[in-house]
Amino acid sequence: MAVQLFVPNFRVEECLAEIRECLEKGWTGLGFKTVAIEAAWKEYTQLAHAHFLSSNTVGLHLAFELFKSKFGWKDNDEVITTPLTFVSTNHAILYAGLKPVFADVDDYLCLDPESVLKRITPKTKALIFVGIGGNSGQYEKILEICRARSIKLILDAAHMAGTRIDGEHIGADADATVFSFQAVKNLPTADSGMICFKEAEDDERVRKLTWLGINKDTYARTASQGAYKWMYDVEEVGYKYHGNSIMAAIALVQLKYLDMDNAYRRQLAVWYNGNLKNRNNVTVVQTVNGCESAQHLLQIRVRDRDAVMLALNEHAIFPGVHYRDNTDYRMYAFAQGTCPNAAAASQEIISLPMHLRMTKSDVDLISELVIKYAR
Ligand SMILES: *Cc1c(COP(=O)(O)O)cnc(C)c1O
Repeated sequence: MAVQLFVPNFRVEECLAEIRECLEKGWTGLGFKTVAIEAAWKEYTQLAHAHFLSSNTVGLHLAFELFKSKFGWKDNDEVITTPLTFVSTNHAILYAGLKPVFADVDDYLCLDPESVLKRITPKTKALIFVGIGGNSGQYEKILEICRARSIKLILDAAHMAGTRIDGEHIGADADATVFSFQAVKNLPTADSGMICFKEAEDDERVRKLTWLGINKDTYARTASQGAYKWMYDVEEVGYKYHGNSIMAAIALVQLKYLDMDNAYRRQLAVWYNGNLKNRNNVTVVQTVNGCESAQHLLQIRVRDRDAVMLALNEHAIFPGVHYRDNTDYRMYAFAQGTCPNAAAASQEIISLPMHLRMTKSDVDLISELVIKYAR
């Protein structure tokens, strides 16, 4: 049997029942279930605000766009970012006309505070932190650095649905935290996401920005009474970025199982670590102390990465790589050579299969093969 990197586990009957409600009611768009998932997400994370989106990528864009206009940032003002991420993180900076400045990563594969300090200039307006694989890395140090200098902190929490530090869900301290509920993330839908601002006024504004700048959503209008319930104003050029009720219906079901699913992911990680930790030629990327990781990924480092990947493929095991150093992409090649740790990691990392249908014997088999082929 082949073992894939990710296989989402949908509670099919429950999801269909939630979706059926949308179809029977005739309400599949904004409102109804999107309102419910926002409430459920706030309850689950204890974050102050939550707005449901069509993806994480659009949320990152909106965070930069909103802060840029709110604080009067100029084109090409700088955002410190990581080269080891999905390209959405860095594209979002460009969408808003800002400039990505790459800092290097640490052993957790997250931004390294030392490197961040060296990248700060008078033009630095924001920093985006990616908790790769669900790991919070040195997030708390980065938070201090940003606070001390009034640098806005955006958390790309695409891997962090359910990550807690000292018992509290990640994200409350960031100026904006953006989650992904894309098809293979820990809380899979098909495509959707959530943006959680710290400030109420930002949450209010983003609700307009995700619906073309319209200042009142359809649901609120239907709920309101009187002859003018069709009436709305358009206050600025917004986007069509809000989430819909079908995605929200799936998210509502999957959220009920998130903690249970993440606990099983951490169990898989414990098994992997038991097999692979302290082996010659293999390093398991560790979760920082105090972090209960959502464990989206289990990453190892090996010297002969491509050979190990090929050998695993021959045994019908299909791992992944998260990620290629973004400064290797033509788009971001202007920064090539500026982040040696990320460049080295990019050559060595493998994300081993990590999903809820795996058993201990899958983990044992994969570990055995890794040990056999790593040189
Ligand atoms: C998946 C992912 C995104 C993009 O999420 P979408 O919901 O697909 O837009 C952004 N950043 C990281 C680190 C991701 O893994």
